[in-house]
Amino acid sequence: MTNIKDNLVIIKQQIAHVCQLTHRACDEVSLLAVSKTKPASMIEQAYQAGQREFGESYLQESIEKVQQLKHLPDICWHFIGPIQSNKTRQIAENFSWVHSIDRIKIATRLNEHRSSQNTPLKVCIQVNISNEQTKSGVSTDELAELTKVIDQCSNLELRGLMAIPQKNAERAAFDKMYQLFNQLKQTHPQMDTLSMGMSGDMQDAIAAGSTMVRVGTAIFGSRN
Ligand SMILES: *Cc1c(COP(=O)(O)O)cnc(C)c1O
Repeated sequence: MTNIKDNLVIIKQQIAHVCQLTHRACDEVSLLAVSKTKPASMIEQAYQAGQREFGESYLQESIEKVQQLKHLPDICWHFIGPIQSNKTRQIAENFSWVHSIDRIKIATRLNEHRSSQNTPLKVCIQVNISNEQTKSGVSTDELAELTKVIDQCSNLELRGLMAIPQKNAERAAFDKMYQLFNQLKQTHPQMDTLSMGMSGDMQDAIAAGSTMVRVGTAIFGSRN
């Protein structure tokens, strides 16, 4: 049996340990619990253990879980998966954060579908930092243009960058992401989120400057 509560304690200790080694304050790094493919009951266990931020990648199942867990008032949902343009309404209506904006069309549609009665949708731009053909994300050349578009979207708040680096090349990719993030911060002082690091490479990501690690397997066990 997966002991979610113990796993959360262990991961937080690991985050604190890397922060200490790299002279970072441990409250600079937050933990996003990636609950894709896992049932609402497991999310609720993590919630009871104090976890509030949850990441989902597959829209249909995530909407069901958002509905099932409506009774948890301060639960916060992050969409982290690839986005089809016909899904932007459901994402804008059900999530507080989106980490995976990768093109202008998605940004403008999320902006249209986010009610101005609601708080702005907090967003990160996904960067294809290892230039992989199969991965989503903008190239570093396209980043400035997409940033400008999001700046004009009053129902979106640009909070940072996200990346999923290529296996075995994570270290250099994380360093590049940190540079891009710092450059953008000079013109965007509200940017506070560098979303990188997963179960297998969380330590390197934190050492390189991540402010949010997205951890699934190490909390909820392996996925089928
Ligand atoms: C699934 C997923 C994760 C979590 O991966 P683990 O290896 O299970 O920690 C993180 N980020 C994204 C974008 C994911 O899709």
